[in-house]
Amino acid sequence: MVVGASPSGIAAAASAARNGAETILLDRHMGGEFDHPANTFFDGMFSRSGLTVEGDYVLHDLDGMHIISPGGCCLSIPAPGRFIDRARFDALYLERAEMAGTELLRGTARSAPLGGSGRRVETDSCEIEARVVIDASGVDGAIARGVGLEPLKHPEDVAWAAEAVVELPGIGEEKYFEYFVGSISPGWKATFSPGGGDRATLGVFVRGHGRDVRPFLDRFVKIFKQHKFADYDVGEMKIVSINRGGDAIAALPGEIVSDSLMATGAAAGMSGMAYAMRSGTIAGEVAALAAASGDVSKRSLSAYVQRWNREFGLEYRMGRASLLTLGRMADEEIDRLAAGLAKRDLDLSGSFFRKGLSAGIALARSRPGTIPPLIQSLAEG
Ligand SMILES: Cc1cc2nc3c(=O)[nH]c(=O)nc-3n(C[C@H](O)[C@H](O)[C@H](O)COP(=O)(O)OP(=O)(O)OC[C@H]3O[C@@H](n4cnc5c(N)ncnc54)[C@H](O)[C@@H]3O)c2cc1C
Repeated sequence: MVVGASPSGIAAAASAARNGAETILLDRHMGGEFDHPANTFFDGMFSRSGLTVEGDYVLHDLDGMHIISPGGCCLSIPAPGRFIDRARFDALYLERAEMAGTELLRGTARSAPLGGSGRRVETDSCEIEARVVIDASGVDGAIARGVGLEPLKHPEDVAWAAEAVVELPGIGEEKYFEYFVGSISPGWKATFSPGGGDRATLGVFVRGHGRDVRPFLDRFVKIFKQHKFADYDVGEMKIVSINRGGDAIAALPGEIVSDSLMATGAAAGMSGMAYAMRSGTIAGEVAALAAASGDVSKRSLSAYVQRWNREFGLEYRMGRASLLTLGRMADEEIDRLAAGLAKRDLDLSGSFFRKGLSAGIALARSRPGTIPPLIQSLAEG
């Protein structure tokens, strides 16, 4: 049984069903309107996760990203990316999970204590016995936590986000994501994501300032208008809606398996839609094989952790180390770093891993004092 029908849960259910398990996918919004905010990805992460981009959910193709320092220095990084219609994306993958044999169920899981031949999942309307439960219920997920696990290694490092969907004639046609770093959005980034036509999103992802990050968003919207003043009649910009939530970008997986239980995606400290889908796929496969073998113990399910670590462990630790370093830098230091990188023409092309490695080395070089904490983060886990 999989709890949570977002990228990681849908992929976990499809994978478990394809590997022969009788599978139920439960979500409190199933059959109704999902409220999933994530709607962009880079092709590199997608193919790294074994996925293929399919045209009918893509709203807008992008050529890369501009990373903008507090003083306005801009690093341009080519990396094809997409802005997607999230409802269509979810519908496509849900249909595939169903075709693989998954039963979709609407309801809210309350807890999953051990019982019977696995766990008894108590929902708001019934109780379901499952040999293995996969908790894919997001960064606030209560299933693994409810049985005493700490599935996020650094829950204090979740980035809390507020993202506005905005309308302004022509704004969605731009071809580059823009990521603003520094005190404008402490601990990570403020983002501009063009969504095609007249639509875009403006978001802040903030670490270390609690869950209510709306004041950062309001300030970013003002600064963004000044930034685009010469290109658009920014007075016409309308905020259509605001999404909120947490992103486990630097949280890292903690205790993510127990007897008859696994956690995946944001519920396990793994960030990003594409990576969530890959982790869900591995979890589903391991769960199905374990159930078929009759051994659903923690030891047997730990094959999932080992596979995830081999594929992603180093990359996630690099990402966390780089974000921690960035979070400790003053705006002036970030400006100096960006200017230095722009001059040195740092090669940030290639695989996601290579980009992360180049950026990490550049960060460490620009601030030697952060090398010990960097090494410590890399050695963790
Ligand atoms: C504002 C914002 C914007 C983001 N933008 C992007 C982006 O553009 N690209 C990107 O790659 N990542 C983005 N992220 C990160 C991304 O959302 C997550 O990494 C990704 O969604 C993780 O997916 P998931 O499947 O683990 O969980 P989630 O997407 O969090 O989904 C959890 C699911 O579980 C269900 N659920 C929760 N509790 C229960 C329960 N008790 N019973 C039943 N169902 C339950 C929920 O209804 C939900 O459907 C963004 C995050 C935020 C907050």
